[in-house]
Amino acid sequence: MSNAIEIEGLRKTYAGDGRTPPKEALKNLDLTIPTGSIFGLLGPNGAGKSTTINIMAGLVRKSAGHVRIWGFDQDVNPRQSRAAIGVMPQELNLDPFFSPAGALEVQAGLYGVPKADRRTMEILDLVGLADKADAYARTLSGGMRRRLLLAKALVHHPHILVLDEPTAGVDIELRQMLWRNVRRLNRDRGMTIILTTHYLEEAQEMCDEIAIIGDGELIVRDRTANLLNRLDGKTMVIVPDGEAGAIDPPDGVEVEHRPDGSIALTYMRGRTGPEQLIDAVHRAGITIRDVRTEEASLEDVFVSLTHRD
Ligand code: ADP
Repeated sequence: MSNAIEIEGLRKTYAGDGRTPPKEALKNLDLTIPTGSIFGLLGPNGAGKSTTINIMAGLVRKSAGHVRIWGFDQDVNPRQSRAAIGVMPQELNLDPFFSPAGALEVQAGLYGVPKADRRTMEILDLVGLADKADAYARTLSGGMRRRLLLAKALVHHPHILVLDEPTAGVDIELRQMLWRNVRRLNRDRGMTIILTTHYLEEAQEMCDEIAIIGDGELIVRDRTANLLNRLDGKTMVIVPDGEAGAIDPPDGVEVEHRPDGSIALTYMRGRTGPEQLIDAVHRAGITIRDVRTEEASLEDVFVSLTHRD
């Protein structure tokens, strides 16, 4: 199957309640998510990311449109489409009366996973909670609770794993552990991963493909590398060997002398070639000890796409 998720013409209007007017959260969203990808769903607050995820997970009813999950139309095969997807929610809503092992057994029961197919210990091991299998839930730290939420999302062996802001407010160690787990699930089991994140650097590092949504509409969807290539600006950083003379740069190139002694030349790729920059550096009598380039970051792309006036 080439697409794990296919969304067509998705609309969602939340009904108002007398005091608040109805809210059109998704206007006409088309989105396909390739099987086996780590896919980032990005956008400013209120863009409609959670609404999209919750509709995919069967937690929010759409107003119009089609959603196919693992080839199953949500409206035609609701049970199969739900079984194909596991969601790690944002909130730490865990029942305090269950141990991690108990919570996974209950979850497996809810999804109708037969006893013989349950992999409770394997899953707890995967998220690093094996030694806490029978601990009281109230003794679990915030980080452990989050790992338990990830474990719960995996009990029914879904093809698609959805993570809603999985690393918001978690420390670096836990974040790295979560990402290691997610990468492993993607690589070893071919699981398709969909995540929302506020950390653009994280999306840039983790995601093969990215969709940016804004105000209930798709703004852009592309491979991460292509998205970064859309911005034309690039910086060449020269580390001079010894004293650096004044550079007379080609038109449109910005020269910045950085405190560490390096010289940053920012240019538009469509306009200036790297040889021209090197020539200008040599004309200034500078010997180049080292050179590197800095690409546009996802943050630059995001700002340029979501703050169009
Ligand atoms: P995001 O996850 O990108 O921050 P959401 O999907 O949560 O965006 O919200 C999209 C819009 O829909 C926002 O304007 C939000 O206020 C509104 N919204 C979300 N959930 C509800 C709800 N249950 N009732 C009414 N409006 C909602």
